[in-house]
Amino acid sequence: MIVVTKKALIATVAQRWKETHSSRSRWLTASATFDPASIYAALQALPPDADEADVIAATGQPWWTENLCSECGADSEVTVGFGQELHHPTDTRYICLHCLQTGLALAAPA
Ligand SMILES: [Zn+2]
Repeated sequence: MIVVTKKALIATVAQRWKETHSSRSRWLTASATFDPASIYAALQALPPDADEADVIAATGQPWWTENLCSECGADSEVTVGFGQELHHPTDTRYICLHCLQTGLALAAPA
């Protein structure tokens, strides 16, 4: 199990951006209308207290800070990831705290 927080997603966004858009020190997806290097620089320059809106403003993309619950679909501050397998990352299910509490209540003896 792993805990995923929006705070951690924001703190790691520059590195994740670089890993997504570059290889061997080259930007892979650059075009006349998309400059991943300048966006990376903007992400690196974010202050330690940057929030989700700051990341969206820098990237123009909302999904870098999304922390979606696999059960209810809500974008949550905190999720817990179950079934993490390095070679099958899409098998991991992230569950928000509300759904975890609901599951515990369902499983608890009456
Ligand atoms: Zn949920």
